[in-house]
Amino acid sequence: MLRDSNIDYALTDLTDRDVEEYYQGFANRVLWPICHYRLDLAEYGRREMAGYFRVNHFFASRLLPLIGEDDLIWIHDYHLIPLAAELRRQGVKNRIGFFLHIPWPAPDVFLAMPVNDEILTSLTAYDVLGFQTENDRENFADCLLRQGLGSRSDNTHFTVGARSFTARHYPIGIETEEFAKLAQRAAETSLHKRMLQSLDGKGLIIGVDRLDYSKGITQRIDAFENFLTRNPDSQRKVTLLQITPKSRSEVPEYEAMQRAVAEQAGRVNGALGTVDWVPIRYVNRSLRRPALAGLYRMAKLALVTPLRDGMNLVAKEFVAAQSEADPGVLLLSRFAGAAQELKDAVLVNPYDVEGTAEAVARSLAMPLEERRDRWKGMMKALRGNDVFSWCDTFLGDLSTGEQGAFENIV
Ligand code: UDP
Repeated sequence: MLRDSNIDYALTDLTDRDVEEYYQGFANRVLWPICHYRLDLAEYGRREMAGYFRVNHFFASRLLPLIGEDDLIWIHDYHLIPLAAELRRQGVKNRIGFFLHIPWPAPDVFLAMPVNDEILTSLTAYDVLGFQTENDRENFADCLLRQGLGSRSDNTHFTVGARSFTARHYPIGIETEEFAKLAQRAAETSLHKRMLQSLDGKGLIIGVDRLDYSKGITQRIDAFENFLTRNPDSQRKVTLLQITPKSRSEVPEYEAMQRAVAEQAGRVNGALGTVDWVPIRYVNRSLRRPALAGLYRMAKLALVTPLRDGMNLVAKEFVAAQSEADPGVLLLSRFAGAAQELKDAVLVNPYDVEGTAEAVARSLAMPLEERRDRWKGMMKALRGNDVFSWCDTFLGDLSTGEQGAFENIV
């Protein structure tokens, strides 16, 4: 047990086999690609699937002795979908909520996954299910109803046998005010000053994404190259800083992508760069929040162009970090959950490379008044739903609902 301020963390070890089958296997080579609409990348195997359910069973047995009678239990994300059903089997009657941070795909995609019924049934062991967007919740509902696993009395209430649960959308927020303050203070740091100096008057365009195929990084670099080629006047005037920490390097698809993106950035720099101008600065490491906040604030434009994303917090952080007097522009994929709230962003389809390139040109030329209007609209949304209100809303729903009939879960 580990205590940090008022939080107790209970840690447990997994074996190498568990990590390989459960985490790298079923969670990150089946559920992650399928929820991001990449059936082509899903590598389903029974061994990995069994590992996923086995580890969730193990987590439930470790958690069981720590649960108090009146505790609310809130479980997060795709690694832990069967945890409530396992807890129910072990006799837990507390209210249990689940929040899915990633998208829920359309039924034709989800139902192509073997064991889709087991995953769907596991979710009916919760009392409150939370999704990032209404679209995700509707996709989930369509899957459940299409498989005949439950019925629906209205938008949010579902019944499975004698059990009922609610499924709503709760778009996750950020610490809006704190992040804005962090960005203001960052202007004083040495990194900020060094960065400004190295830009030498050039406009900064920023991209910040874990190295993941869902983030649309290769399409984005194509779009930036297309923009520079069609707008030669902009060459030498802007620089794209792409910050891309490595992630899940043990998973083969990620390892291949590391090479592909590095080669692509190198090719564009080789083709368009000059002795004193590098079009793309590609940074393959993670930056701390204060440094990121300062870079967001310095940037004229953020390219947040995932092919599919549950929410995308970078989009929200970028907006919160801007100065009211002279805000930068957010160019946002319509396939990020954040696009449902940040309607004043410049919305693009990231599969349309030329369309995205045109949007880059439009964004860089956007008059101050329009930038300010758009920023105000987005900031209003971020202030109205920050991470604290997200948390309160979910826990409010979890604590007030009627007690479920758990006996029906076997
Ligand atoms: N992040 C960070 N350092 C980095 C890159 C990203 O701290 O070098 C943070 C970023 O500020 C954001 C999170 O990682 O809070 C990424 O969240 P997002 O929802 O955008 O994407 P995810 O990685 O969860 O798919």
